[in-house]
Amino acid sequence: MPEQKLATDVYFDLNDGHKIPALGLGTVPPEDKSAVRDQVITAVRSGYRHIDAAWYYGTEKYVGEALKVLFAEGYKREDLFITTKVWPSFHHSPEKSLDESLSELGIDYVDLFLQHWPVCLSGDENGLPAGPKNEDGSLKYDDDPVDGVKFLETYSKLEDLKATNKVRSIGVSNYSIPKLRKLLQNAKIIPVVNQIEYHPQLPQQDLVDFCAKHKILIEAYSPVGSTGAPVLKLPYINELAEKYGVSVNEIANAYHILQGRITLPRSSNLERIKTNVRLPQLTKDELDKLYQIGVENPTRYITDPWGYGLGFKWWKGDILSKEFD
Ligand code: NDP
Repeated sequence: MPEQKLATDVYFDLNDGHKIPALGLGTVPPEDKSAVRDQVITAVRSGYRHIDAAWYYGTEKYVGEALKVLFAEGYKREDLFITTKVWPSFHHSPEKSLDESLSELGIDYVDLFLQHWPVCLSGDENGLPAGPKNEDGSLKYDDDPVDGVKFLETYSKLEDLKATNKVRSIGVSNYSIPKLRKLLQNAKIIPVVNQIEYHPQLPQQDLVDFCAKHKILIEAYSPVGSTGAPVLKLPYINELAEKYGVSVNEIANAYHILQGRITLPRSSNLERIKTNVRLPQLTKDELDKLYQIGVENPTRYITDPWGYGLGFKWWKGDILSKEFD
């Protein structure tokens, strides 16, 4: 048997000169938020060097506790890659959001600061509530989610933060092509990444190509389709796992890493975190066949209400998505 390559050994170049580890650990909370502490510790001890955090997840305190333990064991801050994000209800004050995150994480800079969504929700000076509602139960916006351009002001504040010692790189998340077009007309700094839902059931070659043209790397979130891991039930993923003698999770990660995309799996199962680090060398034909699964039957699993109107393909009920269907 040839020696297995490891996903934890792969790094990609960002467009601003920094490097990013291809495999990152997601930190969306399980039922018990404090469990994230052991997840992060387990991941780093298993070779992960990339943690995907966010103010919105409410788990940064536990990521911070994990980092404290890891630093005491001799892991160095400069060897880890830590991301945080500014939430739409904090769109007016990304620096305040960042400062809160840094304080919870117990570090003095993040490697990557993302705009979580190109949307402006109506939060107070502390970004609260995170999901503001009108009386009729609809989301309370500070700007029109379809035609508004206020989201560009948030990114422009991220650009200012890149000039400080609190942030190494800046990027975006949940940007569709129409939103990216608007951004690129205004931006002084090209985002280093666009973090989006991506897996074999959600083909997005046009968005990937658009980002590649502008040297924006794709970060794949929900790489197994989030809770319940529906993507892992695909027969072809299971077939490949058997062929390569790896787990279905490792096939899902390899699908991205072998094509130059960062993958951000999450798990509350420590054994899963520990063992899912191999990188099976899928062939081009196999990668294409995985892609075709989504072309034939596209499925998006994350359809949070604040994503409505952003111009994403296959966003259930979104009028804008019709132009693509
Ligand atoms: P994933 O696609 O990684 O799915 C995680 C879920 O799949 C967990 O419930 C996990 O269960 C389950 N799972 C994984 N492997 C298996 C398996 N072999 N068998 C059964 N169940 C399995 O989910 P996320 O949606 O959390 O995405 C990952 C990360 O991406 C997030 O944590 C976050 O950091 C980021 N993200 C970013 C977003 C954004 O808007 N920018 C939106 C969503 C996510 P178990 O815990 O038992 O392993």
